[in-house]
Amino acid sequence: MGVNSKLLTPYRGRFAPSPTGPLHFGSLVAALGSFLDAQQHNGSWLVRIEDLDPPREQVGASASILRTLESFHLFWDEDVLYQHQRHALYEDHCQQLLALNRGFYCSCSRSQLKGSHHIYPGTCRNHLQPQNSPCAIRFRIDDEELCFHDQIQGQYCQHLRKDVGDIVIKRKDQLYAYQLAVVCDDHAQGVTHVVRGSDLLDNTPRQLALYRALRYPMPCYAHLPIVVNETGQKLSKQNQALPLSQQDPRPTLLHALAALQLHPPKELRSNNLDDILLWANNNWNPSLLSKQRSSLCPQHLL
Ligand SMILES: [Zn+2]
Repeated sequence: MGVNSKLLTPYRGRFAPSPTGPLHFGSLVAALGSFLDAQQHNGSWLVRIEDLDPPREQVGASASILRTLESFHLFWDEDVLYQHQRHALYEDHCQQLLALNRGFYCSCSRSQLKGSHHIYPGTCRNHLQPQNSPCAIRFRIDDEELCFHDQIQGQYCQHLRKDVGDIVIKRKDQLYAYQLAVVCDDHAQGVTHVVRGSDLLDNTPRQLALYRALRYPMPCYAHLPIVVNETGQKLSKQNQALPLSQQDPRPTLLHALAALQLHPPKELRSNNLDDILLWANNNWNPSLLSKQRSSLCPQHLL
C-alpha cells in the first residue's frame, strides 16, 4: 500500500488482548473482525497487549498470542504496544482529571461499599486530597444518559450514575483501571475504529464519559457477536476454552469466518490462508451481523 492511500484513509483499528492465557477461539473472532474491517478500509491494524494487571497474567501468554496471530496471517502494522510500559501516560491522565475536578480520591474499603450493589454511592466525591493511603482515584460521572451508535448493535444508552456510579480509574493497589488505560491508549495511538466483542459493549459508555471529560474525539464502535459455548457462556480461559492449534490454521479460520457470517465458496476452502483472507476482506460486511447476538463455538475447539 502506498503512502498516499494511507494519508487519504486515516482508518486505524486495533486488537487489544489481555495476556491472561493463550488466544482462544472467541478472541480469534474478535481479532479477525477488526483485522478485516481495517483491511477493507485500507487502514492500519495495531496490536496492543493490555498487561495492566500482573496478578491475572500468565507468563509467556503475550508471546503466544502474537505467535498465534502470525500463524493465522493476521499481521499487524507498527510495533506492538504494551500497557505495562505506559504507566506515566495513565498517571498523567489521572492528574489531568483531578485538576479538572473530574477525579477524586476514594478511601472506601470493600466492606464500606458492600451494601451498594456495585453502584458507587458517591461517599468521597468531595475528597480532592487523599484522606489516607493507599487511596483509589475515581472519575466523577455526570448525572445523564450517555448514548452512542454502534455500527453492529445500533443505538446503545446507559445512565452511568444510576447503573455504575463514579468509576475507579486508579485502584487502591495503585494499578490503573482498564477503562482509563483503553481511552488513553486509543487516543494516543490515533485509533479511529474499535471493533471488538460485544461483551465489552456495556463498558463503552464509561469510556465515552472519559473521552468527553478529556475532550478527545471518540472512535467509531462496532461490537461483534460473542462466541459462546453450549451452555451460552462466553469462551474464556476460565470456562476451559482450549488454545488454538497453530499447525493447520485453515479449518479454524473457516470456523472463525463463519462466526462472522462469512462462508467462502467450497473451491476456495483448500486454498492457502492468504487467498481465504483476501476473499474474506472482499466480502466483509458488518451489517450482516446486526441481528446476531452470539455464535456457537465449533465443538472440537472447545
Ligand atoms: Zn469512597
